[in-house]
Amino acid sequence: MTSPSDKALVPFVSVDNMMGLVHALGIETVLTELASFIEADFKRWPEFDKTPRVASHSTDGVIELMPTADAENYGFKYVNGHPKNMKEGFQTVTAFGVLSSVANGYPILLTEMTLLTALRTAATSALVGKYLMPKGAKVMAMIGNGAQCEFQAKAFQAICGIDTVRLYDIDPVATAKAARNLAQSGLTIVPCTTGEEAIEGAQIITTCTADKQYATILTDNMVGPGVHINAIGGDCPGKTELHRDILLRSEIFVEYPPQTRIEGEIQALDATHPVTELWQVMRGEVAGRTDARQITLFDSVGFAIEDFSALRYVHSKIGGTSFFDLLDMLADPDEPRDLFGMLNRAAP
Ligand code: NAD
Repeated sequence: MTSPSDKALVPFVSVDNMMGLVHALGIETVLTELASFIEADFKRWPEFDKTPRVASHSTDGVIELMPTADAENYGFKYVNGHPKNMKEGFQTVTAFGVLSSVANGYPILLTEMTLLTALRTAATSALVGKYLMPKGAKVMAMIGNGAQCEFQAKAFQAICGIDTVRLYDIDPVATAKAARNLAQSGLTIVPCTTGEEAIEGAQIITTCTADKQYATILTDNMVGPGVHINAIGGDCPGKTELHRDILLRSEIFVEYPPQTRIEGEIQALDATHPVTELWQVMRGEVAGRTDARQITLFDSVGFAIEDFSALRYVHSKIGGTSFFDLLDMLADPDEPRDLFGMLNRAAP
């Protein structure tokens, strides 16, 4: 992508360019292709360096670094989570990320990841849904109609074939926004006024609310047999969405147990409570859903490998397009040891 003479220039995908890229490719294509990249990386899980994300918690939120690497590339995402932000006109979640060459440590991509996180979270949810949802599921309840909501709806439509989304949010303005944005999606959109109404007839329930507390978005009596729950919003210590009794009735599937035990719904359970790792399901080594009456729960917190896949995907797509700029981000003297000389040459 960069020629040898500009080896120190780093491709940078701005928010504008990310929007251009997604529109040029089509959001369904992006979600479907992203899901294949994530699936391919989950299937080679043992090849990655893995660690729970490095989180810096404060009263109002969290700032996290999410690193991982394989033999070829190193990637990390910087991401925040501040539920109070939305009321002050800021995003709850914003992010950017870097992909580097392991061979020489040079970054090969710097990109916005606020949009990309919404896309990769939705692609991951729908990919997992493909493995765990009951056969022929067509209706999804979507509780929490904020920034992530429409991405989730589009991904489940493109990857799992749902045709109806039942929306609920404590703030009707959010539900109206999501209904408006999804009006031309080809999905049947049903705005609801309670969580109970939203889950009526739904085979998939997605919870995607933001509140820094042990919330109870779903109570035990709301969840019938055979349902797949895609629980996205509980992704931080002290922040969950489901009543504990639901967890006790569910088969629980997670990304990376050392991180999910700290951040996911399962922080409400004993540290030895059995969970199944999704990469093993995707490799066919352990079963996913085994019977129609089972409640399956994806306790999603978001793991670094999903961001690595997303970075890899964007890097693979921007070559030959105009959807990136080149950043002069790395000092690169002609003689590698003459860094000081390079500085002096810039003296006025
Ligand atoms: P957002 O602030 O844009 O939207 C959250 C919505 O939840 C708001 O519209 C709010 O009114 C609604 N809400 C809050 N409490 C509710 C309740 N009790 N019942 C119904 N609705 C309620 O946030 P967002 O960007 O959409 O993110 C949602 C959550 O998902 C956040 O907690 C975020 O940290 C998490 N998230 C997880 C992943 C992951 O990989 N698992 C990725 C991205 C975001």
